Amino acid sequence: MGPRSVDLTTPARAMAVGAHPDDIEFGAGATLARWAENGCEVTLVVCTDGSKGTWDPSADIEALVATRQAEAAEAAAVLGATGGVLFLNRVDGELENDRETRSDLARVIRQRQPDVLLGHDPWKRHRLHPDHRAAGFLTCDALVAARDPHFFPEHGLAPHRPGTLLLFEADDPNHAERADETHLARRVAALEAHRSQYRSTMFITADDDRDAATVDPTVLAFRSGQRQTLADAGRWAGCPLAEAFHLMPTDR
Ligand SMILES: [Zn+2]
Repeated sequence: MGPRSVDLTTPARAMAVGAHPDDIEFGAGATLARWAENGCEVTLVVCTDGSKGTWDPSADIEALVATRQAEAAEAAAVLGATGGVLFLNRVDGELENDRETRSDLARVIRQRQPDVLLGHDPWKRHRLHPDHRAAGFLTCDALVAARDPHFFPEHGLAPHRPGTLLLFEADDPNHAERADETHLARRVAALEAHRSQYRSTMFITADDDRDAATVDPTVLAFRSGQRQTLADAGRWAGCPLAEAFHLMPTDR
């Protein structure tokens, strides 16, 4: 069965929440690129500092965190995200849906007032990484807190309810956002801005020079895998390329 709905009206403002730098691009890069192209103010929120994102046991962690923040900013620019990237700076691998983190996320939702909020699907089965689960629940719970006036009155901000919640890497997708070649290319370019993650996440063994990397077989394999992901969602949605989500109303 195909999606229940295809393509939201481009929101004026969208906010996407990921556990780590690069998660948002994997979840919704093409959709965010399309909305940004149509004038949507896109803001990315990264919950953790990305400090576990290397297989090198002797890595300089402080330098890695700085590198990953710079890469995230570059990826946001590639997507056209004029709202930029906000970092909640929790320790990678130790993200919790606790009161303080919920408050931090609800605060930025109230400040930026997105019409659409996007995040990890916390109900995805058989998922290993604890930060992705925690970030998913944080997104859902911070939305409720931002929406209702008696949560976190210390913010001194008006409540704000995003009209739609889109969960990416959805366990039970029910909504598709269509993409074209440009949006796929932006998604891939944004992902490839995360050079520190080539080996550990994207299985790219080319060196970090993007120009040299264009002929590397592992880069080509990564790109064709990305195309396949969007083509699979497109087949489901009845169009060439798409991204799949679970859409939730936010008023219940
Ligand atoms: Zn992640």
